[in-house]
Amino acid sequence: MREFDVVVVGSLNLDLVTRTSRLPGPGETVIGSSYAEFPGGKGLNQAVAAARSGAAVALVGAVGSDHAGMLLRDVARDEGIDVSHLVTIADAPTGRAIISVDDDGENSIIVVPGANARVAPSDIPVGRVVIAQLEVSVDAVTAAFRTARERGATTVLNPAPAAELTADLLSRCDIVVPNEHEIELLGGTDRLLGHGVSQIVVTRGGAGVDVVTRASSLHLDAFPVEPIDTTGAGDAFCGALASRLAEGETLLAAVHFAAAAGALATTKPGAVPSQAHRRDIEALASTRPAAR
Ligand code: ADP
Repeated sequence: MREFDVVVVGSLNLDLVTRTSRLPGPGETVIGSSYAEFPGGKGLNQAVAAARSGAAVALVGAVGSDHAGMLLRDVARDEGIDVSHLVTIADAPTGRAIISVDDDGENSIIVVPGANARVAPSDIPVGRVVIAQLEVSVDAVTAAFRTARERGATTVLNPAPAAELTADLLSRCDIVVPNEHEIELLGGTDRLLGHGVSQIVVTRGGAGVDVVTRASSLHLDAFPVEPIDTTGAGDAFCGALASRLAEGETLLAAVHFAAAAGALATTKPGAVPSQAHRRDIEALASTRPAAR
């Protein structure tokens, strides 16, 4: 059986983005100035980030049998991602995020999970690192991590969007990667350590990253860049982290590389298009020695 470096269990969405001078209130209609569609979903974003970081990646997820589903499958395939565990569900729409952005940059978003809510991985490909987020159900992630752990894989959870985590799921996570808001909602790093998570990586945007274990807590500064759009930074970070961990790097060396990937993702618009390639991540990462 083929072994992958990284198996991503997660969502795929088509993002429908409208721009308008002012967001409509309840019952109101406003005229938009533009409309565009982008591939998205944290699962797809992180799979692309891991693949561009140099990993052999499989994506476990679900799409509907509609145009959006075909389009997202093609995006993954074009990145060299294995889609043999990306199922098509006949009676559910492909996940969508309906996003409106006004002239002040304020947004309102409706996410329709559709097929993502039906992800139920009874069988996942073999991978050194298995990473998941929470745009698919906690039950699906728990089942995937159970299988991964039985095979000796490293399990990485990006608890986004924040949701209540069961003790059962936490006990199956090796590494949890929340952002600064998610770690608050999860009750802090001590609580996660108490549930058996061995390593926690808290991303703090331009303020860098904290790496917390039972034995130590270390802060790494962000790489200095000029951000233009921070969408996808967290996904870039997680995908790159998983890719480097699969190569057998230490957590700190992997975080160093991932922070460079996250920084680069802020310098381009969008989520999938903004994911950097390995050589560019390495170039930025090499401007500073990795923490040991
Ligand atoms: P999320 O998108 O999940 O909120 P963050 O904003 O914390 O995630 O970004 C993830 C990582 O990307 C950060 O820890 C950092 O390494 C990098 N990053 C994000 N924003 C910036 C920035 N403005 N400058 C440099 N690096 C950044």
